[in-house]
Amino acid sequence: MESTSETDILFFCAHCSASLVVDSAAAGVTLDCQKCGKPTTVPSSSVVAAGEEAAKISDLQRQLKENESQRTEITGYINQHSIQLHRWQLRLQTLNERQKKLQTELAETSGRQPASPL
Ligand SMILES: [Zn+2]
Repeated sequence: MESTSETDILFFCAHCSASLVVDSAAAGVTLDCQKCGKPTTVPSSSVVAAGEEAAKISDLQRQLKENESQRTEITGYINQHSIQLHRWQLRLQTLNERQKKLQTELAETSGRQPASPL
């Protein structure tokens, strides 16, 4: 965050929540946001502390949201891979059964000929 002097007002754009710093002389004036260009009103200097608090709250909310979206992503991966794992297990089971069947068939066929172990 930018450093502010005693006379500066730190506030947040009503549209994009960008943190903006202006001279206290601009209190109550409507300015175009430096980030989104939309008009936003500069509060009185008394809002500075609340603004910092609001910045922290919005930062925490952002982190929480980011954390939540990562949780959703990972949970999705786990579910997806659980389904895939189940499919592979079924496929392996099928292959095992087929292997047994083929070995049995081979043993029966080889049985008519000299020693060919399983
Ligand atoms: Zn803005």
